[in-house]
Amino acid sequence: MKYYILFGPPGAGKGTQAGAIAEKFNLKHVSTGELLRAEIAAGTELGQQAKTLIEAGNLVPDSVVEGMIENLFNTLKGVDGFLLDGFPRTLGQAEDLDKMLSARGEKVDAVISLMISDSTIRERLKGRAAIEGRADDANEETISNRIATYHQKTEPLINFYKAAGKYHELNGDGKSIEEVRALVFDLLNQL
Ligand code: ATP
Ligand code: MG
Repeated sequence: MKYYILFGPPGAGKGTQAGAIAEKFNLKHVSTGELLRAEIAAGTELGQQAKTLIEAGNLVPDSVVEGMIENLFNTLKGVDGFLLDGFPRTLGQAEDLDKMLSARGEKVDAVISLMISDSTIRERLKGRAAIEGRADDANEETISNRIATYHQKTEPLINFYKAAGKYHELNGDGKSIEEVRALVFDLLNQL
């Protein structure tokens, strides 16, 4: 099995690109953000706890997303691998992912990072709020907190995966969805 991580700040286009990548390379696309939004929509206990955190622009606890991920690794069959979108998002999650995979005799194959500037993040999230109506895109304060949380908690993963020789970065600023998709396909074909 292949394990790819689609990495990047909020609004980088992970969710936008993931479907096409997963289809072309026969991977299962797993978005922790989407899984959490489904829990919220279903009104589960987990969803209710996650809602408050997400709408303030904070992360949910590592144990919550790790539980969801492990569950999928255990149940999914018939794919060549996984495309993880929005996970891992903290060093703790990255370390636990390595443990989870090594226990199965597997490893992270590569990290594909879609990089955009903070000003592009703001533009895109505001644009998306108007289209998708996500509560965590609608409010300036929440957006600022998500950007700060990204720099504080998630950005350190770049060095973690660079040290492992697995980090590949593509710059998404000023590029169309199709241009970014072509770059990701090229990269995955070369790996
Ligand atoms: P993109 O637009 O690039 O797809 P995003 O950051 O806008 O990404 P999601 O990945 O959908 O959005 O995440 C939405 C929210 O869900 C996060 O702000 C966070 O609160 C929560 N969340 C998602 N994944 C994790 C995770 N791995 N750990 C903790 N919280 C998470
Ligand atoms: Mg997303």
